Amino acid sequence: MITVAEAESLLAHLPCATRIEHRPLTQAIGCILAEPIRAREPSPPFTNSAMDGYAIRFADYQRLGNATPFRIVGESAAGHPYQGEIPEGGAVKISTGAPLPADADTVVPVEDVTVDGDALHIEQPPRKGQHVKVAGTEFSPGAMLINAGQLLLPPHLALIASQGITQVAIYAPPRVAILVSGDELVDITAEPQFGQIRDSNSLMLQLAAAQAGAPVVQVRRVPDHLAATIAAVEEAVAKADIVISSGGVSVGEHDHIRTALQRLEFQELFWRIKQKPGKPMFAATRSEKLFFGLPGNPVSAYICFVHYLYPLLRRWQHHPRPHLDTLDAVLTQEVQNTQDRLHFVRVRLRREDDAITATPLPRQASYMLTTIAGADGYIKVKPWTKLPAGATVTAYLFPGAVV
Ligand code: AMP
Ligand code: MG
Repeated sequence: MITVAEAESLLAHLPCATRIEHRPLTQAIGCILAEPIRAREPSPPFTNSAMDGYAIRFADYQRLGNATPFRIVGESAAGHPYQGEIPEGGAVKISTGAPLPADADTVVPVEDVTVDGDALHIEQPPRKGQHVKVAGTEFSPGAMLINAGQLLLPPHLALIASQGITQVAIYAPPRVAILVSGDELVDITAEPQFGQIRDSNSLMLQLAAAQAGAPVVQVRRVPDHLAATIAAVEEAVAKADIVISSGGVSVGEHDHIRTALQRLEFQELFWRIKQKPGKPMFAATRSEKLFFGLPGNPVSAYICFVHYLYPLLRRWQHHPRPHLDTLDAVLTQEVQNTQDRLHFVRVRLRREDDAITATPLPRQASYMLTTIAGADGYIKVKPWTKLPAGATVTAYLFPGAVV
């Protein structure tokens, strides 16, 4: 049996067999960029107008001043450049984003002119070069746009797309397989017979892995039978980088997960953590494959997943902040741990005027899904510890929870 801190440290140092994958941009959201992106093209790609108005040569204005009107000789609209030359004293009607005609250098906004037929009266003296976005002023080809390690959000992907780059190198998430063990389990769509229960862990673990960015390549139920368990683990290991099981890791005679892993020559990393819930958690490795046996109780399975595996799945993808978000919260009531195991106490978190409060859920049994469905996260309470009401604690937020 190891402590929570030892389990955390073992998992934090576990090597991840990360691969680099090339993905279309629409499938790279939330992924971590594996190779830097440099500019291929300048931005703006061509000199263009920042305003709707009229493009002129500033030197003409200096010569003509306000006395003589300019003559409108054509138009440059977005996507439809003005092709000709501009004669002396000529102006080209221009819209925002449209290419500045080669001879022009200044844009006079519509607000600053009056138009009479093709005569353009400039009412406000322009500054040379005003309202012109010069090609390459944002960046030039070769400029570093996004460093490797960046978490990709829509603006990053838009910037990449604007360069005509359609695929990005990202750190591939691990492929996860889920095995749920238990003869009592039936599909969530089935009507359980007496003694049977619906397998809610499959769904929970599958969605939790997806929240960590890892696709689940297979979900299978396994009976409480050693040979079947060995076969199912072998199949899962062939398809996945990480296999996560639920149930069958306690000391009952129907618990076969550990024995199956021993037969398959996995090296045990640990079995049992001094914690509640989730004490029977088991971890093993075989070359680059990882296996995690979570307890069957839904609360135990979820707490073990979010505390240990969520960070691991994200670290595998080089996530800049793999761990659960934490925040300081003020306990609304006393919490006591009178056991020699660390307690993960599920709490409801509320944002009050000047602090966040944490209220332990009154019922904490590990079979009660309501104690995780009703919580926003959890706090760690060390063995033999009493935390008074008003104490500030570190609360771990469940993935996706908002406070
Ligand atoms: P075990 O860890 O196999 O001893 O299972 C502990 C408890 O969790 C038992 O009450 C099981 O019925 C329950 N349990 C096991 N697997 C699941 C599952 N996939 N979904 C919901 N409950 C489960
Ligand atoms: Mg079982």
